[in-house]
Amino acid sequence: MNALAATSRNFKQAAKLLGLDSKLEKSLLIPFREIKVECTIPKDDGTLASFVGFRVQHDNARGPMKGGIRYHHEVDLDEVNALAQLMTWKTALANIPYGGAKGGIGCSPGELSISELERLTRVFTQKLHDCIGIHTDVPAPDMGTNSQTVAWILDEYSKFHVYSPAVVTGKPVDLGGSLGRDAATGRGVLFATEALLAEYGKSISDQRFVIQGFGNVGSWAARLINEAGGKVIAVSDVTGAVKSHNGLNIPKLLEHSMENRGVKGFSGGDALDPKSLLTEDCDVLIPAALGGVINRENADDIRAKFIIEAANHPTDPEADEILSKKGVLILPDIFANSGGVTVSYFEWVQNIQGFMWDEEKVNCELKTYMTRGFKDVKEMCKTYNCNLRMGAFTLGVNRVARATVLRGWGA
Ligand code: GLU
Repeated sequence: MNALAATSRNFKQAAKLLGLDSKLEKSLLIPFREIKVECTIPKDDGTLASFVGFRVQHDNARGPMKGGIRYHHEVDLDEVNALAQLMTWKTALANIPYGGAKGGIGCSPGELSISELERLTRVFTQKLHDCIGIHTDVPAPDMGTNSQTVAWILDEYSKFHVYSPAVVTGKPVDLGGSLGRDAATGRGVLFATEALLAEYGKSISDQRFVIQGFGNVGSWAARLINEAGGKVIAVSDVTGAVKSHNGLNIPKLLEHSMENRGVKGFSGGDALDPKSLLTEDCDVLIPAALGGVINRENADDIRAKFIIEAANHPTDPEADEILSKKGVLILPDIFANSGGVTVSYFEWVQNIQGFMWDEEKVNCELKTYMTRGFKDVKEMCKTYNCNLRMGAFTLGVNRVARATVLRGWGA
């Protein structure tokens, strides 16, 4: 099932549980605005290359639209639509005053030089600058992009408008980025996992973890779980996979991966077929890469007791059903990975106030938001007698629906 169909199905199930009016349901599903632009740049060798860029602004009932910009060869309008919709429910669930958006360019960033990436980002911003702003839509990094990408967006934006650092989040700290933002999604995953395990009388230090993806989110999650005493027994990225039953040495793996641009060839573990990583014997499985990786083909073989969705929509609805029958507990993406956008909100607040928080305050506030978020999700699970995914969706959708009704449709 494609990402948009899967996300919309979850939304409709939540709308049904909440008893939403069918017209309101329809209006919540249709995006506020879809933008599609052509981006042509001269490559370093003088030839031209054309790419298609998107920004889907899904909903702004609760505040400015918020979401990352993804550079990946699989980016298309459907995918960006699904991710934008997920941002709307995610920001509402986290109770931060934002709506949802997502952007992306269909490209392979690893095949472009730094100067080509800069030109592409600047052309994209030239086409988009009128549609973003600190009180309208605030982009951030996502898969294939980073603090440098948003620094270029900020610079290009400021050629057309007044220089406003709060127009993007996830910036380098030197340009007003927040301390702790780089680690925030991974740290949020740690806090979310702690909250879930505590419900079952377990803790990070007595669990074995498998992590799919060793980019920003997966590598920070691995590092923080390791520091909290958890045993990370297998990890994969696009280059390959490694495992060690006694637990991988994560600081050494991080070093290896920095030097070799991937986990492949790490001598502190055994090589593993990345395809079989998801079905490794473990307690907690953390998909932290692409969407749709847990599907009806592999769901039955999954041996983890808990799945923490650090990636966006890693689990197909068909797999959801199979896993729930097996008794596997899934902590859904819109809660599990909400630490990133929550610290983006802290960054935006600091920029608007012209004041910088220390890292301890950022991490402490993040813990408060994640702990409260988990409590709120559990409350919805109790009210609607539903699983964690529906608890998270009903929480997010209900907040957006209430804001929409309160604002009304005008006379
Ligand atoms: N890209 C991240 C996400 O999917 C963060 C978005 C943001 O900080 O606006 O949640």
